[in-house]
Amino acid sequence: MNLLDYLPGIPDFLKPGVLFRDISPLLANPAAFKEAIRQLDEIAQQFDYTHILGIESRGFIFGSALAHHAHKGLALARKPNKLPLASHREAYGLEYGNDSLEIQQSTLPKDAKVLLLDDVLATGGTLIAADKLIRSAGFEVSGAITLLEITFLNGNELLEQNRIRHQSVLK
Ligand code: 5GP
Repeated sequence: MNLLDYLPGIPDFLKPGVLFRDISPLLANPAAFKEAIRQLDEIAQQFDYTHILGIESRGFIFGSALAHHAHKGLALARKPNKLPLASHREAYGLEYGNDSLEIQQSTLPKDAKVLLLDDVLATGGTLIAADKLIRSAGFEVSGAITLLEITFLNGNELLEQNRIRHQSVLK
């Protein structure tokens, strides 16, 4: 099974010139979704981690399925103003705008080793913000995993420059 067949590119979404990979066909196909989680678990096993950080919104889907599958804890990095007890915020730029991520106060144990997870790595801005967020809250970041890396945007290089080890299932 080629998982890329379930991630079609949609031209000019959310901005002209952007080929947006849609994850909906993969989620709608039980075999493809299951295989995606199996392969995410395979790359996650290269990291020493206790908790997954799922990044809103699509990182929540894969993060919660993987945490359940791998018997790990799940923490959520949320968009601004959604958390009653938000403790840290990190702003960042995107291919198509600006955004921020927040985490909730005292959800992770002090010795948590956090594996960042998102569906897609594009420029790397989101994962760099997530890394800063977790470290500013005082936790260790084990690394980052994604389902799909859009290689021509060189996000992986930017992550390396920021000393974030990253693996993706697909390129
Ligand atoms: P970056 O910060 O690396 O430029 O962008 C990654 C973030 O934008 C991720 O949270 C991801 O969900 C979203 N994103 C960027 N491009 C795509 C895409 O083609 N498809 C999907 N599903 N998400 C994307």
